[in-house]
Amino acid sequence: MKSTLSWLVVWACAVGGIGKSVSAQLTPELTLTRLACGTNADTDVGLRFSDTYAYNGVKIQFTYSCYLVKHGDDYLVWDTGNPVGTTATAPKTSLIDLLAQVGVKPEQVKYVGISHYHGDHVGQVSAFPKATLLIGKGDWDVLTDPKAAAVANPAPFANWISRGGKVDPAAADKDVFGDGAVVMINTPGHTPGHHSLLVRLKTMGNVLLSGDLAHFRENYDSNGVPTFNTDRADTLASLDRFKKLAENLKATVIIQHDARDVTKLPAFPASAR
Ligand SMILES: [Zn+2]
Repeated sequence: MKSTLSWLVVWACAVGGIGKSVSAQLTPELTLTRLACGTNADTDVGLRFSDTYAYNGVKIQFTYSCYLVKHGDDYLVWDTGNPVGTTATAPKTSLIDLLAQVGVKPEQVKYVGISHYHGDHVGQVSAFPKATLLIGKGDWDVLTDPKAAAVANPAPFANWISRGGKVDPAAADKDVFGDGAVVMINTPGHTPGHHSLLVRLKTMGNVLLSGDLAHFRENYDSNGVPTFNTDRADTLASLDRFKKLAENLKATVIIQHDARDVTKLPAFPASAR
């Protein structure tokens, strides 16, 4: 018969082992990497980025950013930038090639998340036909409405529109991996189904990726509404919610198109964790 002490050791090891495996399941490795998805010369933002003439004569260098989120063994690509090609704003290296540089194959990408349907965010989405498409329901409804082709180009989404791939349209917030670590935040107004992304990193802390809720810092700080947004009131309500989220979560806000925000994350191929 075993002594009380040896039973205690067996019990402690079992509990310790269970505790370890449960905590490993609860806290999968989470990293965030910025991928360059196009470049631009200075843009005169006085022309289209304020419906109150707020930025007359202001020039801002826009960048086009995509992101890779690693959650345990699963990957999410957030926004897919400009299409590869010969236009001035085309990325120098395709998303597929950038992912290869960090050892990720397109078929490993479980989710491709799209902040909204504009061409500079969806240009390379078709490179991930096996991924589940995560997109705001309001945007998906536009993309799948034949009468709305003049508003949004459905061609990059042909694989999902023809049901060749799974799509999960988000009518509200969307907890991507089910553990609260990565959440698509419903921020309509720029488009009907626009979403931003919250990533709750262990070391860096909370990060909020703007989508196009704002296009540059001045635009964010002054609640500027571009003339081409679909709903002014929704934009202002979304900005209000996003700023409160950022404050309460002490989040690092990254405005995806603002070249000055690129250095808030480590330079590729390094990732924030
Ligand atoms: Zn946009």
